[in-house]
Amino acid sequence: MTMIHVIKGDITRLTDVDAIVNAANSSLLGGGGVDGAVHRAAGPGLLEECRALHGCPAGEARVTGGYRLPGRYIIHTVGPVWRGGEKKEAEVLAACYRNSLEAAAGKRVTSIAFPAISTGIYGYPKKEAATVAVHTVRSYLEEHPGRIEKVVFVLFDDESLQIYKELMKKRG
Ligand code: ADP
Repeated sequence: MTMIHVIKGDITRLTDVDAIVNAANSSLLGGGGVDGAVHRAAGPGLLEECRALHGCPAGEARVTGGYRLPGRYIIHTVGPVWRGGEKKEAEVLAACYRNSLEAAAGKRVTSIAFPAISTGIYGYPKKEAATVAVHTVRSYLEEHPGRIEKVVFVLFDDESLQIYKELMKKRG
């Protein structure tokens, strides 16, 4: 049985997960928000490894080392930019969560932390994004029992924290 935790904080400060997910942009060369914090905390070695990956399309995920971060890996995924909801945003966001979990499982990662992908600079409405995140992660864990022991959703603001807490109370 996988534990799903919801916490408030800075994802780069987590010390008890094998991997953290970075809400990257498609260049993988750094940016603002989570991405900026991850690169600052990990140090210059990360950028060097990212350069060699030559980008990542929205919905996909790439794995690098964790460098100065406590976890072994960073999983970089590129969320959709919100364009009103009719441009496959939900599909692409779900793919981010699924592909990040797949990438983690491929590295034998048993604990992983996610930020609220796309809800910052990319403008995805927080509640809609949270629904996709929780639903997709729960489905993946049900489909692949035993792979991942712990998932942590790390929220940066109180509004997002409350939204996730509410969703976690509901099943299905
Ligand atoms: P995107 O470009 O995918 O929208 P952002 O990094 O701009 O990604 O924001 C995604 C979410 O992560 C936002 O809700 C933002 O408030 C939050 N966030 C920003 N910095 C951090 C951090 N250091 N740790 C956890 N969450 C963060």
